[in-house]
Amino acid sequence: MVADGHGFDGVERRGLMFVLSSPSGAGKTTLSRLLIERMQGLSLSVSATTRPMRPGEVDGRDYTFVDKTTFDAMVKRDELLEWATVFDNRYGTPRAPVEVALSSGRDVLFDIDWQGTQQLREKARADVVSVFILPPSAADLEKRLHTRAQDSDVVIRGRMDRAAHELSHWAEYDYIVINQNVDEAFAEVQSILKAERLKRERRTGLTAFVRELQRQLEK
Ligand code: 5GP
Repeated sequence: MVADGHGFDGVERRGLMFVLSSPSGAGKTTLSRLLIERMQGLSLSVSATTRPMRPGEVDGRDYTFVDKTTFDAMVKRDELLEWATVFDNRYGTPRAPVEVALSSGRDVLFDIDWQGTQQLREKARADVVSVFILPPSAADLEKRLHTRAQDSDVVIRGRMDRAAHELSHWAEYDYIVINQNVDEAFAEVQSILKAERLKRERRTGLTAFVRELQRQLEK
């Protein structure tokens, strides 16, 4: 499924699926936005969801907002790479844009929960790099959910209750970042992506590159 593209040093490599998960309010959305703004060659996977749009959200940028019937039709047509029910709403990753990005040599960033991450891992283990973002404390998580002010108190209580359950999946992830400070957390996530891009197994063009180096040295 993952095609080869050119790395930034000109050596071909396989595109990777970079997954960020966390309890909501741990700062994952901010980190995703910074990654997209500052890292070249990275596309954001825009999920489809049945949840209502929040103030400030834009259809097609934050999510593709669809009704339940449309979502079910997408599932039936196998148009979603993975999907899950979160807080009584359905969320899923449209398959086509991911395949287009990967086959043109771009990496894809996913802001999805542990259920979606498990499904991606089952489909493409070698191409999935997963990062779990932890808040430094429960108080910090609650403060962020309130500051975001996009949800009612009842919804926030529900998200806090669910956070404990989501946290229990931390050990399934390749990397764990504690978001004490957004600049530091961003630097950590960025270094993970940079290092993973350099992994030998992903750099399909290395054999040819080294062979050419040897040819030049032997001249
Ligand atoms: P929110 O409603 O706060 O935007 O997202 C709620 C949760 O759903 C977050 O943990 C987010 O990562 C997750 N989520 C968003 N899109 C998807 C998706 O396409 N698939 C899955 N499995 N989870 C998603």
